Parts: sequence; C-alpha cells; structure tokens
Amino acid sequence: MSNACTVDFADVVLEYASDAGDGRVRALDGLTLSVAAGEPIAIIGPSGCGKSTTLHMAAGLIAPTSGSVLVDGAPVEKPRQRTAFIPQDLGLFPWKTVYQNAATGLVIRKVPKQEVRERVTAALAEVGLSDFAQSYPKELSGGMKQRLALARAIALDMDLLLMDEPLSAIDALLRESLQDTLLDLWKRRGQTQILVTHSIEEAVYLGRRIVVLSARPGRLMRVIDNPGMGSAEYRDTAEFTDRCREVRHALAQTGFQPEAAADEVAVAGDVAGGAAAAAAGDAAGDAVSAAAEVTA
Ligand code: ADP
Repeated sequence: MSNACTVDFADVVLEYASDAGDGRVRALDGLTLSVAAGEPIAIIGPSGCGKSTTLHMAAGLIAPTSGSVLVDGAPVEKPRQRTAFIPQDLGLFPWKTVYQNAATGLVIRKVPKQEVRERVTAALAEVGLSDFAQSYPKELSGGMKQRLALARAIALDMDLLLMDEPLSAIDALLRESLQDTLLDLWKRRGQTQILVTHSIEEAVYLGRRIVVLSARPGRLMRVIDNPGMGSAEYRDTAEFTDRCREVRHALAQTGFQPEAAADEVAVAGDVAGGAAAAAAGDAAGDAVSAAAEVTA
C-alpha cells in the first residue's frame, strides 16, 4: 500500500454563515493548489485567512462552497481511512489513557481489536511512549502529549498527515526538538503532509513548499520553493536564512505582523477553535462517541 496520496484544491471557495445570521463570511476565495504524493507543505498567513478551513476541507470535515477538494483524485466527502488530523489542541481525551487515546482513530474506523492492539503497541514504541500506555494525558509533559498525537496518526498508518499549529503551545527549545521528530517521521514514512503554522522558521524547516495566503478572504499569494529542507543541518545554512527572509517579505505584503501574531492566535483560537470543534463535531459525532467505548 502506498504511503502517500495526492491532494488537489481546485478553485475552492468556502463561505460560512455569519454569526449574526444575516450573511456569509467568505473564508477562502478561489484556492487552487496541488500537493504531490509524499510532499510536505507548510501553509502560513495572517490569522483568519482560512488556514484551518483549508485543513478541515482536506480532512473531509467541511465541504467547499464551490470548487473541489480531491485526495488521490477522489472528492473528499467524509473523513478518510488514512487521513490523520492533528488539531491545535492535539485532540487528546483527558479521561482516556495514553493507549486508548492512541487507539481512537482505529476504533472509530472499526478496526478489529487484536489489530488495534498490535498497531497501537507498535506506534507507542515508535514515539517512545510504551512505558506510559496506562498513564493519562495530564501525567504527560507537553512534548509527550505531542508524541502521543503522532502515535495516534502512526497507528492509522496515515498516508496524509494534516497538522493545525500542533506546536504552538510548546516553548521554543522543545519546539525545535519536536520539529526534528516531525521531520524524522516524514523522512521515514514519506506521507503527504500539510502543516499550518504561524512560525516562519517552522514553515521553512518542515515545508518543501511554503504556501502564503493573503488576509481574509484567503487567496494564494505566493508559493515558495524550498528544495533544501530535509535535514536537521538545514537550520544552520545561509539558504535557510534566505528562505525565511523570503517568506517574511511575502507575509509583509499580506499585512501580517509577526509581533502581533501571538495575541492574534489567542483571539482567533477562541473564534476559530470553537467553529472547528463544531464542524468536526458534526461530522465526527458518531465516531467520537464510538471512541468513548474504547477499552485497552
Ligand atoms: P485561520 O486558521 O487562518 O486563522 P480559519 O480557517 O480558522 O482561519 O477561519 C477563516 C475565517 O472564517 C475567519 O475569519 C473565521 O472567523 C471564519 N470562520 C471560521 N469558522 C467559521 C464558522 N464555523 N462560522 C463562521 N465563520 C467562521
């Protein structure tokens, strides 16, 4: 089975009903983007420009208002078997053990119990959490929670990994080491990857192409090639620095203000996080209640 799939957005428009109920909010406006099988891309842009929306469409949680979103050539009408989605808050259930959390995706997909056991055991070993299988998320450090979210994706044997600012709550030093973990995972498995991030350095470290979206409604402003990514040493090169500068300049044209970004994330997180949870809840409500039945 292939480890990677293609993703194609063709002239995608996404409008939400406005909170006031008297109109539509256009979040994305004519997004066209093709992601090759096994390609890791990073999406960056001002808060509210439609980055999370783009991921939710690729995950099959919301449908475009017009245009199409295809994974491996097929319209994404519902969550796929081998798409793993790591949301901003990592989506861990506090009342479940590490094992049960890692098993969630498989249980939702009704994988037989014995196979769940084998795959989850292997995934926890791969991220170094075997000894914590019976712990609860509150007993884990931030970095361990992050690795648990990855174990859930690995257990799914994902061919598409979608990540919505998964490292935003992690402090700078640990963040670099987790970026290394993500890079290793991609190098070993070669899955297609879409990472949404607010960090220019993270986008350049982890994206073979960096997609810069304009302020809302999100339009594709620039796609920056970044062929040098792929090793831990890349951070120390002049090419890395040049690429960061290129992304920074592209972002400046969108009105993005890096120093305001942290505040914006907090505010946008309240608005968009609730919306995303609602969207995911609608699509995956049954699945989540099925997952609540997991027993190790
Ligand atoms: P980003 O991830 O780039 O910060 P989002 O994709 O979360 O942006 O949101 C894009 C725009 O759409 C924002 O202005 C946001 O407020 C709006 N939006 C997102 N979800 C909803 C929703 N469910 N209902 C109404 N507006 C929404």
